[in-house]
Amino acid sequence: MTATVHRVLPTLQKRHSPLSAAAEQRGALARVPLGQSFEDALEGAGLYPLRATGIDIFQVNVGRKCNQTCRHCHVDAGPDRTEMMPDAVLDRCLELIDTAGFATVDITGGAPELHKRWREIVIRARAAGSEVIDRCNLTITLLPNYAYLPEFFADHGVHVVASLPHYRQKGTDTQRGDGVFDESITALKRLNALGYGKPGTGLVLDLVTNPVGTFLPGNQKALEADWKRQMLRTFGVEFNSLYTITNMPISRFLDFLSETGQVNEYLERLAAAFNPAAAAGVMCRNTLSVGWDGTLYDCDFNQMLELPVHRGAPRTVFDFDLDALANREIVLGPHCFGCTAGAGSSCGGATAA
Ligand code: SF4
Ligand code: SF4
Repeated sequence: MTATVHRVLPTLQKRHSPLSAAAEQRGALARVPLGQSFEDALEGAGLYPLRATGIDIFQVNVGRKCNQTCRHCHVDAGPDRTEMMPDAVLDRCLELIDTAGFATVDITGGAPELHKRWREIVIRARAAGSEVIDRCNLTITLLPNYAYLPEFFADHGVHVVASLPHYRQKGTDTQRGDGVFDESITALKRLNALGYGKPGTGLVLDLVTNPVGTFLPGNQKALEADWKRQMLRTFGVEFNSLYTITNMPISRFLDFLSETGQVNEYLERLAAAFNPAAAAGVMCRNTLSVGWDGTLYDCDFNQMLELPVHRGAPRTVFDFDLDALANREIVLGPHCFGCTAGAGSSCGGATAA
């Protein structure tokens, strides 16, 4: 099978869409008349101001380039994006990985493997004793220069977190581009052949699904059982866990909501489903997110909205101070309702399942 670059639509940036600017996105969200602000909802749950509880996960976003242009992408990633973490920032991240003792280093993008020094991050983080998560779109492993990836993942014990909206072709290709589903299945079979997703190998392969539409994800445990049955029976594919993730109303999903006149309705749905238990477990409480230029954020979503960490905290990798960042106040906005609706949503799936 020959891998291709998959396009659903050009990136917002390429289309010169006003929503390619973070300020426009923040403005569009702020204009939605919600019954209560996210801060008020947290106050009611006894969680305001929301503070970090530590930094277990150091999430490094190495750039916005991707071989896909998925319809729902919160990064507005695509083949035409040129932002890539420069050497000085990456070197500083490696220093922090060597010394800060992060339990997990989570590498994301775009397609993070497209960064020419991606392998270095994996090797240094493993040497430092950290778990390494790679957020993989699967099809990257079929591109000619990246066919080495499955073996490299296995050799270094990388925890692969792979996105696949649906176990049926139509649902996945509608969101991610024609041919993505078939290539994803090929990639998953290769990972399985190396032991990924198989009991007793220690090679962890998790899948991430998000709704193909404006509804909340279903029950994570029930969906996982269904996915496991379907993937095994239809394709002979195994995996460890399924994470359900709510579509965040930012970037390309916000553009879709705007084009279809559903911004208010979707935000209202998320706000109405506010769950205090999910709020207590939001990922920003134990994660620090690094942008390609070294700016620090509470999460990848705040990163895309250009909302850096609180003014009182160090704001770049060059000023990193573990103690000052470990209990920082989290920067919030209406988009945060996406993390607290229903069973909650995070890079690790539901937070109150
Ligand atoms: S959702 Fe992932 S695979 Fe799709 S365009 Fe965005 S970064 Fe690439
Ligand atoms: S969007 Fe980010 S800052 Fe807001 S609740 Fe979710 S993880 Fe925390």
